Formats: sequence, C-alpha cells, structure tokens
Amino acid sequence: MRRETSAVHTGVDKDAHYRSVTTPIYPSSTFRFEEVGRIPEYDYTRSGNPTRAALEENLAALEGGSWARATATGMAAVTAVPLMLEQGAHIIAGHDIYGGTYRLFDSLLPRFGVSFSFVDMRNLDQVRAAIRPETQLIWIETPSNPLLNIVDIAAVAELAREAGLLTAADNTFLSPYFQRPLELGVDIVVHSTTKYLNGHSDVVGGAVITGREDLAERLGFVVNTAGLAGSPFDAWLVLRGVKTLGPRMEAHERNAAAVAAFLRQHPKVARVYYPGFADHPDHELARRQQSGFGGMVSLDLDTDRIEPTDFFGRLRYFALAESLGGVESLAEQPWTMSHASMPERARREAGISEGTVRLSVGIEHPDDLLEDLGQALG
Ligand SMILES: *Cc1c(COP(=O)(O)O)cnc(C)c1O
Repeated sequence: MRRETSAVHTGVDKDAHYRSVTTPIYPSSTFRFEEVGRIPEYDYTRSGNPTRAALEENLAALEGGSWARATATGMAAVTAVPLMLEQGAHIIAGHDIYGGTYRLFDSLLPRFGVSFSFVDMRNLDQVRAAIRPETQLIWIETPSNPLLNIVDIAAVAELAREAGLLTAADNTFLSPYFQRPLELGVDIVVHSTTKYLNGHSDVVGGAVITGREDLAERLGFVVNTAGLAGSPFDAWLVLRGVKTLGPRMEAHERNAAAVAAFLRQHPKVARVYYPGFADHPDHELARRQQSGFGGMVSLDLDTDRIEPTDFFGRLRYFALAESLGGVESLAEQPWTMSHASMPERARREAGISEGTVRLSVGIEHPDDLLEDLGQALG
C-alpha cells in the first residue's frame, strides 16, 4: 500500500457490528471482562482503547514502524522517551530544537538527574565530542525550528549505533509523508500530531513510534504508567485528519515554495530560510533524506526598513498564532512566542532575533497568500 492509501485505510476498520466505513469513537473508560481472570483485549482506556488503537495502527504504518502510542500532546510523546532510559542518563540534543522540548530538557528533567548537552547537530564532530560514558540517547529534530536547518539523520544514527546509543527523531515538521527517520536508522520517532498529522488546528496530540519490540515494551510501560495516552475523541479527530495527509502536504509544499520565492526578492526581507532553495546550505541533504521540502518558511525582516509589529499587525490571512501544520496559514515571532521559553542567549546562539518570522504556509490559494504578505511588508 502506498502512503496516501495507507493514510486512508490502515486501522480504520474497527466496527465488526455495523461495518461502518469510519472508525467508531469508544469513549468508554472501562471494558467488561467476560469472566474473572480472562483479560479482554481492552480493559481500561489509559492502557488501551479501540479508537486510539486505530490511530496508532495508522501512524505506525505511515512511519514504517510496527508499534505506536498516541499521546495526549506532542510534549507527552517527547517526555516518554527520556522516561524510558536508565537512571542518570545523559542525552545529546541540537541547540535549535522546539522551544517546549528545550524547556523540558533544560529546566525540568535535570531536576531528576537527567543531563543534556546541546550541540550543533549538523557538526558530527561536535556530536561525537559530546558523548560521555553515561550518554544513552541522541535527540534529532530536523528540519529545525524555526530556522529549518537540516540534520543528517542517517549519519547521526550511524554514529549513535557505533557508540551503542539510541536515537529518537522528532518528525513533526515534515510528517511521514515527506520524511521517514526509522528507514534512515533512527530507533524512535515522535510527533506532535497537533501539527500536520491532524492538520486542522482542532486538537492537541502526539505519538511515539518504533519498529523495535524491546523499545515498544519500554515505551508502552512509560505511556501507561505515567498516564500519557490521548483521549478517544482526540484520536478520532487525528485519524480523520490524517486521511488527507498526502494531498494536504502537497498543497502546503507548493504554497511554501511560492511564498519563499516571493519573500526572497522582497527588499524588506533580509533573509529567507527555506531548504528548497538550491543555494540553501543543506539543500542537497534535504533532497536526499526528504521527499519534499515541507510547508514551513522562516525569514528575517530587514528591521531597518520595517517594524516586526507593523508587519504582523497588517497580515490578514496569516493569523498571528503559534503552532503550525494546519490548513490555515499562520505567522509568528519566535522571539516572543514559540521560543520565548528559551533563554535569550540560547535564542541568539540558535540564530533567532526580534526580526525572525516563522510562517506555517496553509493550503489557501497561493496568490492570496502572496498578496497578503506583499501588503503586510508594505
Ligand atoms: C508543537 C511541537 C511539539 C510539541 O507538541 P504539542 O502538541 O504542542 O505538545 C514538539 N515538537 C515540535 C517540533 C513541535 O512543533
């Protein structure tokens, strides 16, 4: 089955009784035992639920894994990974990862003895140099947020394997439609399904996916024990959204390419970050490991010529909002919004400034989007 077909069909068929074409929602918190001692397939919804299982099957298939858990949020999926490690773990991560993940890694988990090194993940020597005896995992996020730097997934995964380390990749930005880290040697994939997988900005959710049975067991224990799983209603919404992943991603990509090209020639734009440009430093790598460039475009406004607040204030179709991956276009200022939880020094090091704008390009008609950006730039 090809991805578009799998997105429509896998896991969906859960109604033996009425043979409904879509998956029923089973909100039941608990399920009857037929008799004492005979544990049914589902006994309690924190541990397992038929609607959620439908989504899990679908997502595992899309990523090329064999096991998935749908979590309450993307951060719940991210959290499941370090919780699976042994005591005293050290983790290596990129310095330009999602702000919420950075906060978890930098501010919360160190309280419990988990330590982190943040490196430039594009520099393999830096990654190698950060490995310590207690290192257990390398955390990959690519393209990075918000500047869309690309990490060589296969190279990092190989380096990790040689050093006996696990790898996890946050695949939220491209979705399995454009990138499949498990096929490149990564052990675990996490998602914020809030973004492209659901695609309609009406649910927060996450997923953790693997093709390794031993890791599935450890992650499954964490998700059940810590209570990280998502609700059946949310699972149903994401399953409905994911069916159109293919056509949506194609439209996002087409529009993002048009937006990037438009911004690049605009005199009030100092710089555009888009891996689809042939002269983007990671363009060849992106072509190799991705099957598309995605729907995200970031830019630096020329703040001598335009005030960021004026630009944001004039946008009409691009809503000033955090998040990404929905059918509607969004614009945000990482400095004060998505990356505000990063210390100022860390933001500067990652290349984020007050003039940086992150666009999540939606699936509207591209001419309307270009007109909107044009009038907002003035
Ligand atoms: C949004 C996001 C998350 C967190 O997901 P939530 O659903 O908001 O908890 C993690 N990683 C990336 C790359 C994201 O964009």
